[in-house]
This record gives sequence, structure tokens and C-alpha cells, in this order.
Amino acid sequence: MTPTAVREGSVPVVRAEGVCKSFGSVEVLKGIDLTVRAGQVMCLVGPSGSGKSTFLRCVNHLERIDAGRLYVGDELIGYAERGGRLHELGEKEVARQRRAIGMVFQKFHLFPHLTAWENVVEAPVLVNGEPKAAARARGRELLARVGLADKADSYPSQLSGGQQQRVAIARALAMRPKLMLFDEPTSALDPELVGEVLDVMRGLADDGMTMIVVTHEMGFAREVGDALVFMDDGVVVESGRPADVLGSPREARTRAFLRKVL
Ligand code: ADP
Ligand code: MG
Repeated sequence: MTPTAVREGSVPVVRAEGVCKSFGSVEVLKGIDLTVRAGQVMCLVGPSGSGKSTFLRCVNHLERIDAGRLYVGDELIGYAERGGRLHELGEKEVARQRRAIGMVFQKFHLFPHLTAWENVVEAPVLVNGEPKAAARARGRELLARVGLADKADSYPSQLSGGQQQRVAIARALAMRPKLMLFDEPTSALDPELVGEVLDVMRGLADDGMTMIVVTHEMGFAREVGDALVFMDDGVVVESGRPADVLGSPREARTRAFLRKVL
């Protein structure tokens, strides 16, 4: 079997069925259906305001869904059929699940008063209770993995945007996530720094990490993505293999979007 065939047959890590989310009277997600399987890289694209960040925030329990079903792993993380009863995981289960999900944002959100290395080591020790010595050694390894072995003792202010984002990725990996969520991880970077971050993400994909990546980098989506989902106005308009969606989009809205970004 090819690697893609293996990934298509693997277990679902995220499964959304009719996921809805409103803020007040504004319906932001209007019934999202999608599945991400173990080892898959799903690229989520669409115009600003289409609900991409909100969807990621629902997966990571930063927002509660209003209707539909959303499973992470085997667990239903929350649903309320319209007018029906809300099912919610308890606080402990939510905390446990969130520890298994790494999230990387457009802005890096590093602790400014901690070095790169300390940023990476902090959560495994404080949140997961890992022994300090082991967490420190692993912190070094993770910084090496993102190409920053020589920057371990630098503070965020001494690093470029691309380097800071790579530290943020190493910090997320330190929690040993089963799923990584990226929300426009290169959008805040100067163009010449985008490649180094995408290379790290490509390496993660090659190592079999399950990822949902919100991005405007269509080259990355084409080369690294197993699936491409185009969202607009709170719905999935079109999805499929990246080469198919990019090469011969079926929907007018997808074509209009791609004309702008390609
Ligand atoms: P995208 O990431 O695709 O640009 P978002 O998920 O950030 O889209 O936002 C989708 C819509 O939801 C936007 O109209 C935005 O203003 C609205 N929205 C997002 N978060 C909130 C919030 N916490 N309160 C009210 N409206 C929100
Ligand atoms: Mg967004």
C-alpha cells in the first residue's frame, strides 16, 4: 500500500458531523462535516471570516459547539441536537484531551521572559509533571528538530519571527500531542521566513503527525496535504485531494477564491 492508502484506512482522529456554532445571532459554522484520520494532513482554506479559526477552536475546546457532533479520538466532545440535550465531557476529560492537542497560532505567543529552551520545557514539567531532567533533555532534542539547537538560550526578542514560530512548534510538540492544529502559522511572517516554518511542518507530516492546517500556502497544501477542504461562509463548499481541488475545482466559489490566492 502507498502511504496515502495507509492514511485513508487509518482511524479517525477528528470527526465533525453537522457542527454548528453561533456568536449571538451570527451563525459562524453552519453544519460542518469532515473527518481527519490518523497520520493525515488536512489543509483548511477559505476567505477571511469563513469560520476556519472557529472550527479549530471548537476542536481544541476553546469554543463549545451549539449543534451537531464533534468527536476527537473516540470521544464525543460536545453536542446539542437543536433543542436537544447538551452532552459535555467533564472538566478533567477536557483538560486531558486538550493536553493531547497542540495548537500553533499566527502570533507565536511565547513567554517573553523565558528562553527558547525554557519555553519548551515549561509545560511538560508544570502541566504534565514530567521529571525536570528528562523534560530538559527532550527540550534540547525538540529545539534541534526544528533547527534551533544553537538558539536554546536566546529570548524570543532575540529571535526572528520564523525562529519564534519554530520554538512555538517545539513547545507544542513537547506535550506529545496526538493532533496538531495550525492556524495560519506563516501569515505573520516576512516572506523570506515562511519556508523555514513550512519545512518544519513538512517534517512533522513525514513523521506521521495528524494535522489540521489553516493556510493560504497552496504550494504546501498541494505537496504536503492529504486533503484540502475549502470553507466559505460557515460551510464546507468543496473538499478532496489537494491536486484535484486546486487543479479542477468543481464549485464557482472555490474557483473565485483560488483565482485570488494562486
Ligand atoms: P476565519 O478564521 O475563517 O477568518 P473566524 O472563525 O475567525 O474566521 O470568524 C468567523 C466569523 O465569526 C467572523 O465573522 C468573526 O467576526 C466571528 N467571530 C469569531 N469569533 C467570535 C467571537 N468570539 N464573538 C463574536 N464573533 C466571532
Ligand atoms: Mg482565522
